[in-house]
Amino acid sequence: MHPTHILSLLTLAAGAFASWQSLGIPASSTGATLSVQAFNVGNLTIGTATQIVHPVVPGHEIATVPVFAFLLKHTAAGGRTTRQFMWDIGIRKDLQNAVPSVAAEFNADPAVLQEPTDITELLVEGGVNLTSIEAVIWSHAHLDHFGDMSKWPNSTNLIVGAETDLSTYPTNPNATLQPSDLAGHNLTKIDFTKSTLTIGSLPAIDFFGDGSFYLLDSPGHLAGQMTGLARVTVSPDSFVLLAADTAHHIGVTRPRPLLANNFPCPGDVLAASRSAISTDFFWSPNSSLGSFDLSSRASPLLGISDVPGSLYADPAQSQVTLDKLAAFDGDEDVLMVIAHDGSNVGALPVFPNKLDGWKKEGLKETLVWRFLEMGDFAFVF
Ligand SMILES: [Zn+2]
Repeated sequence: MHPTHILSLLTLAAGAFASWQSLGIPASSTGATLSVQAFNVGNLTIGTATQIVHPVVPGHEIATVPVFAFLLKHTAAGGRTTRQFMWDIGIRKDLQNAVPSVAAEFNADPAVLQEPTDITELLVEGGVNLTSIEAVIWSHAHLDHFGDMSKWPNSTNLIVGAETDLSTYPTNPNATLQPSDLAGHNLTKIDFTKSTLTIGSLPAIDFFGDGSFYLLDSPGHLAGQMTGLARVTVSPDSFVLLAADTAHHIGVTRPRPLLANNFPCPGDVLAASRSAISTDFFWSPNSSLGSFDLSSRASPLLGISDVPGSLYADPAQSQVTLDKLAAFDGDEDVLMVIAHDGSNVGALPVFPNKLDGWKKEGLKETLVWRFLEMGDFAFVF
C-alpha cells in the first residue's frame, strides 16, 4: 500500500476513535439508550463542612447540599420506551417518622431540611404512575437516598449493591433503615465479584445487557455504593455518570488537567477567582499573596475529609474511587453528576426536562466551573 494511503487510514482511525472509548466503555451493539431526568427533593444540612472536605474556610463551616434523585427511562433497540427505574429517591420529607436518632435531630432543628418535597408526589404530579416504575436502585443505603419505600407499591422492586448493610432499626440500634423500607419489595443484589467487565478501572455490570446502562462498583463512602453510567445518546455516543456520594462537593475533584484541557475555565470566572479564592488556604505555582491563579493549579482545591466523623467510611478508598472517576469527569463525552453538587442548583435541568441532550446543549461548559463563582451555592473558597 502507498504510504499516503496508510496515513489517511490512520487519520480515519484516529477520527473515528471517540473520547468515551478511552474509558473502556464498550461500543453499543443495539443502539439502546437510557434517558435521565433529575429531581432535587430538597436541600439538606448534612453536617459540618469538616465532615466532607478540607480545608474549611471560616464562614463556610456548615455543609448544606441539594439532594438529587433521577428517573431513568430505558429505550430498547427499535425505539420503544419500555421500562422505567429510579436512581435513588432522595430523603423522606417527614423526617419525624425516620428512626428515633434522626427524628430527634430533625425535631430539634427542622431547618436541616429546606424546601422538602416528596419524590412520589413529584412523579405523580408530573404524570408518572408509580406502578410504571419497575425498580428503585439505591446507589447506597443512606437516608438521603433510600427515601421512603413504604410509599411505593409492592410491585416496585429494590436493587442494591451486594455489600449493602440492610440491617434495620431496632434490631440494629444504629441502623437508619426501618423494616418498612424493605417490606414487600423484591430485592436484587448486584454482585460485582461476578463482573467480567471493567470501565474506567472500575468493575462494571451491564445492567440491561444492551450497553445502555452500566453499574460501577464505587466503594469508599459506604460499603456497597454503586455509581451508574447511562448511555443517553448513540452515534454520537454520550453518557451521564450518576456519581452518587463519591464526593459531596465537586471541589474535591476539580480542577484536574484533563478537565481543564477539555473544558477550559471561562476567562471571567478565572479573573474573578483571583480575588475570590483565598490564598491563605489555597495555592498554586503562579499564585501570589492575595491573587490566586487557577490555571497553574493541577490538583483539586479540596480534599476528602478524613477526620473522625468523616462522611466517608473509608477515606483512602474514597480517594481511589474518586481518582478513577476523575477520568469520566474530564471526558468530553461524559457528564458527571454527584448527588449533592451544590453548583448544580438552578443550573442542572430538572424534571420534566431531560439531561440526555447535555452535550449538544453545551451544559457541561455551563456547569463545570460554577462552584468557583462567589455567591454560588457551592462556593466555599
Ligand atoms: Zn448522600
